[in-house]
Amino acid sequence: MTSLNNSGLQKTVAVIGGGPAGLMAAEVLAAGGMQVHVYDAMPSVGRKFLLAGKGGMNLTHSEAYDDFLSRYGARRPQIAPLLDQFSPDALRAWVHALGIDTFIGSSGRVFPADMKAAPLLRAWLHRLRQAGVGFHMRHRWLGWNEAGTLSFDTPQGPLTVDADSVVLALGGGSWARLGSDAKWVPLLTQREVPVAPLRPANCGFEAGWSDYFREHFAGHHLKSVAITFNEGEQPALRKQGEFVITADGVEGSLIYALSAGLRDRIAANGSALIHLDLLPDWSLRRVTDEVARPRGARSWSSHLQSRLGLKGVKTSLLRELVPAADFGQPLLLAQAIKALPLTLLAARPIDEAISSAGGVRFEGMDPGLMLKALPGVFCAGEMLDWEAPTGGYLLSACLASGRAAGNGVLSWLR
Ligand SMILES: Cc1cc2nc3c(=O)[nH]c(=O)nc-3n(C[C@H](O)[C@H](O)[C@H](O)COP(=O)(O)OP(=O)(O)OC[C@H]3O[C@@H](n4cnc5c(N)ncnc54)[C@H](O)[C@@H]3O)c2cc1C
Repeated sequence: MTSLNNSGLQKTVAVIGGGPAGLMAAEVLAAGGMQVHVYDAMPSVGRKFLLAGKGGMNLTHSEAYDDFLSRYGARRPQIAPLLDQFSPDALRAWVHALGIDTFIGSSGRVFPADMKAAPLLRAWLHRLRQAGVGFHMRHRWLGWNEAGTLSFDTPQGPLTVDADSVVLALGGGSWARLGSDAKWVPLLTQREVPVAPLRPANCGFEAGWSDYFREHFAGHHLKSVAITFNEGEQPALRKQGEFVITADGVEGSLIYALSAGLRDRIAANGSALIHLDLLPDWSLRRVTDEVARPRGARSWSSHLQSRLGLKGVKTSLLRELVPAADFGQPLLLAQAIKALPLTLLAARPIDEAISSAGGVRFEGMDPGLMLKALPGVFCAGEMLDWEAPTGGYLLSACLASGRAAGNGVLSWLR
């Protein structure tokens, strides 16, 4: 079915931003009979999507839907209606329809069979081109000109584009070199669109290591540890997993899982205190008994290794953070092994983060994701004001919001 505008021509929709959210909007729009043009500032689309595939592309999560929705925290009421229209099961079916198998990992996360993003993106772009979607690369959107027409900077010079409707899917503020440089923020705030400040999400933190520890242990993984973080009013959060020591501090999946609360605590108080449990499967009593056994002539390192299996970066972290005098007191040392205090001083810069929080506020949009301040302009993806941990929740909401924006345009144009 083809939709015509007042001039009797097929209606055109400009999708600006060719990440997963924009591509999904383009797919829905092409299927709805629109002439769709995707514009992107980069030489090719889906660069962050492809990077996400490097460490194993995590598409979505297989946990119970209610638990899944809880990962969107305070934005659950806004994100749930989008996911209701494109659930984790629907996402998997959509991937299968592109000829890509998926599997559920031991953590419940859903991956493409080969863990890669490239075959999926290739199949998707092929299908979009067959549906008539036009792609315009190296087209940087600069806002609107005085006549209200879209303005682009292109290799051929300035270009203006008239479209019946627009979907903005410009991404968040992390990894600017992949295209998502957040230069859209002033373009929208100038037009009275409410935008919450962008902040790092799923990010690392600075810990102020000593030169010795940084030089010897940056890059080392701490496996099977738990972190407790007391978020204030709430009961303390305890999560188990692994993370990495960096030159500046800590990062990795266990840190990301707590990063929203840590970031907000640092913003409010100047630092955030976490407690590391280096032996989460051992009781304090058992650790204390083992630490208290006679050490003889052995060093502390070999004592802890032989009695508790503690070694390498874990022992060195104790040395880094525990006062030397406490090593002589079994109970204090055992307490440190079970609840080692670590003060985090700052979130790492947004450009290094996996994703960003903040963005176009939901109050500024209608349920179809159209901007109230700019009728006919819709927004989707990470540029909206929500955040979620890693685990497939980011792509799930980006794709679902792209679909919702595409459907929003179809309803509006009809
Ligand atoms: C290292 C890494 C690993 C990740 N792994 C996962 C994972 O396994 N699972 C998961 O769910 N999520 C993962 N993510 C997050 C996920 O990739 C992003 O949330 C998702 O790509 C955001 O989609 P989007 O379409 O909103 O924006 P983006 O993918 O950022 O796309 C935005 C597009 O807009 C274009 N653009 C921006 N400004 C302009 C402009 N002015 N003019 C024209 N074009 C413009 C950009 O060039 C870009 O192509 C990962 C992210 C990173 C960095």
